[in-house]
Amino acid sequence: MGPDPEVRRSEIAANLAAVRERIAAACAAAGRTPDEITLVAVTKTYPASDVVHLAALGVREVGENRDQEAAGKAAEVRAAGADVHWHFVGQLQRNKARSVASYADLVHSVDRPALAGALAEAAAKVRDRPLDVLIQVNLDPGAPELSDPLHRGGVSPASVAALAELIGKDEALRLRGVMAVAPVDDAGAAFARLALVAAGLRADHPNATVVSAGMSGDLEEAIAHGATHVRVGTALLGKRALLG
Ligand SMILES: *Cc1c(COP(=O)(O)O)cnc(C)c1O
Repeated sequence: MGPDPEVRRSEIAANLAAVRERIAAACAAAGRTPDEITLVAVTKTYPASDVVHLAALGVREVGENRDQEAAGKAAEVRAAGADVHWHFVGQLQRNKARSVASYADLVHSVDRPALAGALAEAAAKVRDRPLDVLIQVNLDPGAPELSDPLHRGGVSPASVAALAELIGKDEALRLRGVMAVAPVDDAGAAFARLALVAAGLRADHPNATVVSAGMSGDLEEAIAHGATHVRVGTALLGKRALLG
């Protein structure tokens, strides 16, 4: 038997209040207002019932990092009558593009031309409006270039403009901004680099205003450096069980 739904909902409500307080405090410290920040609840490994609780508590932006899990959960949540927007935040293989394009509203993790192409082709087929995407930026010093077929987890800052140009040409995609995961040791410096990349991108693509940065452990630093979207999992839902 699962946990008592009322107990679970009040647990999530308390976590949500604490996260909203952290966001408010970080905004106050940065001279920003909380309405500039979109909270994306990352629900990976947690059941659809938690997404329904979050929606009832007013959280409508939900993130997942694996298509196999997300596709089923999106269907379950829809069947439960909850209306949420799905954010895809994980590494994505081209053969999942069609599935992701069918339920996701924003893909945060576009990191190579081939993936952009696959998403565009899929979006043109399965959607009646363009798919919003972010370019994932690798903030590690020495991040590999776009041409490196083995790179994982984002393009180097130097490669963002080329990938943006490619995405910008495709009518099935809408380039909305950048996303990054900071290295654990120096999130502040990494988010400062991301802010520069984001500003450079906006110079060429004025609608690319989203900066998706910050997770449970570093959302304050992200907000200090201009994040518009924070992706929060454990602080809302608890520690994930190790899989496998
Ligand atoms: C899991 C995940 C998050 C949330 O991380 P927490 O530390 O649980 O808040 C954010 N972004 C991505 C890309 C993730 O995979």
